[in-house]
Amino acid sequence: MLLKKYKSNFIKELSSINDEMEAESFFYLILEHFHQLKRIDLAINPDFEISESDMVRWENILAELKTQKPIQYILGETEFYGLKFMVDGNVLIPRPETEELVDLIVSSFKSQTSKLRILDIGTGSGCIPISLKKNLPNAEVFAIDVSENALEIAKKNAKLNGVEVNFILKNILETNDLEQQFDVIVSNPPYVRMLEKEEIKPNVLEFEPHLALFVEDNDALLFYRKIAQLAKKNLTENGSLFFEINQYLGKETVELLENLGFKNILLLKDIYGNDRMISCVIN
Ligand code: GLN
Repeated sequence: MLLKKYKSNFIKELSSINDEMEAESFFYLILEHFHQLKRIDLAINPDFEISESDMVRWENILAELKTQKPIQYILGETEFYGLKFMVDGNVLIPRPETEELVDLIVSSFKSQTSKLRILDIGTGSGCIPISLKKNLPNAEVFAIDVSENALEIAKKNAKLNGVEVNFILKNILETNDLEQQFDVIVSNPPYVRMLEKEEIKPNVLEFEPHLALFVEDNDALLFYRKIAQLAKKNLTENGSLFFEINQYLGKETVELLENLGFKNILLLKDIYGNDRMISCVIN
């Protein structure tokens, strides 16, 4: 069948659950994954045919997409900060908001010549430390996660991207001292409250690890408090702490950091205009 023709069938098939633009973006992701072709290639070569056997592969993916499984889990990969990352249901799918956090750190330190020690807490797929190491190659980068399965993926991702990151299996909620000093600590911890569950789309709720997403309503800042306390102990003088935050808890998170004695606290918005990042220093 002509791929062009298959494309309209594919989009139509998905129309009940995805809008056309989203369905089209899935189509192009699969096109690249299966056939190493980009949108422009199809435009240049409109007579591209797909074989019977390829069609079966496409149809299998279509069936999975209809269950609302995220395309990143179906293909087993995603892109983050210009790099490729393997993902499965053990790790959160890296988000564009987190790319902004990485970019903030890269731009803050790229002209620094001294050797930085950076720690990412709750690393999941390893998207944060790996893209930091790639862009700040002089840094020594460490990453902690509580999940052995997540760390396995993160290690594969470091290899895939040709960088060295020191991965540590640890439950930070049960840690009172990291017993090493870091110049930068970063984290995108679980921050979705149960009361916000309604806002979460089924493709996220049913497929992404709840351990990575949710925190109890009665202590929404649990991870922020714990990480900030550790940072007070384990940041070098003038060391920096960076967080991705719950957009509804910007003020509360700033207050928590103020109370713990952090300085130069900056609350920053993401490209959607939501409070999303905090940077601060300890001295
Ligand atoms: N650090 C990973 C990310 O930003 C995982 C975060 C998480 O699991 N809460 O995607």
